[in-house]
Order: sequence, then structure tokens, then C-alpha cells
Amino acid sequence: MKILVINAGSSSLKYQLLDMTDESVIAKGICERIGIGGHIEGVTNEGCNFSYDIDLPNHTIAFFEVKKALTQGECKVIDSLDEIAAVGHRIVQGGATFTHSVLITEEVEKEIGELCELAPLHNPAHLQGIQGCTEAFGKDKPQVAVFDNAFHNTMPPEAYIFPIPYEYYEKYKIRRYGFHGSSHKFVSASCAQQMGKDLKDIKVITCHLGNGSSITAIKDGKVIDTSMGLTPLDGFIMGTRCGAIDPSVVTFLQMKEGWSREETCTVLNKKSGLLGVSGVSSDMRDINEACKNGNERAMLARKIIAYQIRKYIGSYVAAMDGVDAIVFTGGIGENSEKLRADICSNLSYLGIKLDEKANDEFIRGKGGKISTSESMVDIYVIPTDEELVIARDTKDIVNSLN
Ligand code: AMP
Repeated sequence: MKILVINAGSSSLKYQLLDMTDESVIAKGICERIGIGGHIEGVTNEGCNFSYDIDLPNHTIAFFEVKKALTQGECKVIDSLDEIAAVGHRIVQGGATFTHSVLITEEVEKEIGELCELAPLHNPAHLQGIQGCTEAFGKDKPQVAVFDNAFHNTMPPEAYIFPIPYEYYEKYKIRRYGFHGSSHKFVSASCAQQMGKDLKDIKVITCHLGNGSSITAIKDGKVIDTSMGLTPLDGFIMGTRCGAIDPSVVTFLQMKEGWSREETCTVLNKKSGLLGVSGVSSDMRDINEACKNGNERAMLARKIIAYQIRKYIGSYVAAMDGVDAIVFTGGIGENSEKLRADICSNLSYLGIKLDEKANDEFIRGKGGKISTSESMVDIYVIPTDEELVIARDTKDIVNSLN
């Protein structure tokens, strides 16, 4: 069975075609600058790659280009779209409505639309992705929605209720939802497997550190807390997002700078984080480079990220009354051995002993255990695979239809 996985952003559309008989990737690629120009690039499992500019005025046209890339030309991997059993879509916000993956129907599409106000940067783009897919692939191709927050639905109310008047939770469903669920699900399951244990029997803290970052505490196989909240802005310092800050900072600056709602959102989501503090870049590689050159604000940004992650780990150890394993994943978590070492160097009270050689070795897609055999807590680097989680859920739902 072949499954196409789609991650549609406001101006991009990432795709990955998987063969579910062995869960291998047949081809993957990305359409970029949708609506503002257009570019597509991709690669197949045989190493055939392509990259060209083409006018992509909307997501539907982008889907037609993906269809062309898969079925025509020298990098074609299938003869027709009939070979694809179903399409799985990553959807960031499923709210309290969707606690697991579902087959997309008109009703589901409508409900994803109603959740746009809880994820204004993401859900509208996902809807365009679904609609473009329906036009390019036809109404009969099953499409499945896999929600970023679904894995977190086991969180208890003391973790997800914000201490503001309860009526706002009742009226608007304002609560902690959590995101990166497919990633936390994948790496926690993989961690348990590598430890030779059942996830239900261990306490794990998973650190997804990328452009957007979140940390999750998992106990008895259930998420008990996670750092992102109503939206992916909560938590700790990210590429351009501020994470949790004193809410008075926002009202103070609105008063002083006369920010509108949009300006406030832009500053907190796009101009803060590593970029805002360093003034250099939102990209960890640039921050590391600037640190080497003695840039003090870049060094401060790097200190903040390590410090805040350590604080989250400490608070989740307290929340779970212990921890058996900590996992690093995401672009930064998988590649920045320096940051991992900085974080672990001040966790000696947990009996953590980092294997420095293994830590230096496990980068660029290589994962494994980076703690020594004497360490009281196992530390792992596990390359995440959100697409595989989406493909697996899509396959299960399609199988249940038959
Ligand atoms: P993601 O959002 O998971 O794709 O992660 C993007 C982040 O990973 C960016 O901040 C990158 O700078 C960071 N990253 C990627 N490769 C490296 C690397 N070799 N060292 C440090 N950070 C990296």
C-alpha cells in the first residue's frame, strides 16, 4: 500500500510518498513560494532529483505539480495516482474535537475550519491543502487528518487548564492543547523500544528542539504535560517565538508601542526567540557561528535556550516524580551536540552521565544512546519521523474502511 503524506503550510507544501509494505520512502519533495512565485524540488529513493521554478498561484496548482513530479518525467515513481491508496494530512490544531486521526469528510473539513481561530497560522493552510488535494486527486481518494495535538489528549486538567476565569475555557475552549504530537509519539515509542521496555512502564521526557520547540512529559504511556499551549507560541525560547513570558510584558508594550493585535502577534511569533535576543538569526547554526566569533548576544541566546530547557526538564521530573529517559529530537536536538552537552552538564542531581564520545557522534540523522552505563537516566538522540506516524495512522484508517 502506498500512502502520500502532505504537510501544507501557508506558502509551502511538503510531500512524501511511502511504501507501507516496508515503510520506506519512495519520493519526497516540497513546493515553495505558493502564491508569491513558485518552486518545486524533490528526490526519489533511487537518488533522482529535480528542482525548478514554476508559477504556483495556489495549493491546487501545487498539487497538480506534485502529481506531475510523481507520475511523469525522469524522476517518476508511479504510473498513475491510482497506485496511491490514500493521502494523510498533518493538521496542527484539532482542538478538543479531535482526539485521534480521522477520515476527512465534509463535516470534518468544516470542523477543521472552525478551529482556524485556535491556529490562525496553520489550519487555514491545511484546509487549502485538503481542498487542493481533492481537486487534483478526485473526491474518491481517501484523505485522513492526523492532528498535532491528538497525542496530548491524555493530559489531566491540572496540566491543561489555564488559571484564568473558568468561563473562558467553557466559552472558547481556551486550554493547553500541545503540539508536535506525532513527533513526541514517535520518539517516545522508539525510546521504549530501545530500552527494551513498554512505554507504559517508563517515565520519559521528550525534547523536540527545532525552529519550533516543545518538551513533553510521558508517564504510564500517557502525556501528563507539554510545553506548548493554546497555540505553538507557549513554552520556551524558539527560533522566532518567545515562549512563555510574563503576560504583563505584552500589555506594557502594547501601551508603550501602540501595537495592534496583528503587530503583537508578529513580534511574539516572528521577531522574538533566538532571533530577537541575538539580533543575528533564528537559525541555531548561525547562532553557533556567531558565538564562535564572540558575539555576546548570540552567547546569551544560547545560554537562555539551555537554561530554559533544563528548567522544563526539572519541572517535568517533579511532575512525574522521577524520569527514566530523556530524548532529544528535531533539527537542533538531533544536530547540536554542544547544546545537548550544555543541557546535560547541569543535570548531575539526576545522576545523569553523558557519554561525550557518543554525544559527538550522534548527529546528522544518526541516533542512539548518549548516556554512559553508569547514568541513572538514559539519554537518547532519536531522529524524528512525523511523516511515518501520519502514514501509519492513514493506513490503519484506510484498512478499517475495507
Ligand atoms: P527543524 O525545525 O526541526 O527543521 O529544525 C531547524 C533547526 O535545526 C534550525 O535552528 C537549524 O539551525 C537547526 N539545525 C540544523 N542542523 C544543525 C546543526 N548541524 N547544528 C545545529 N543546529 C542545526
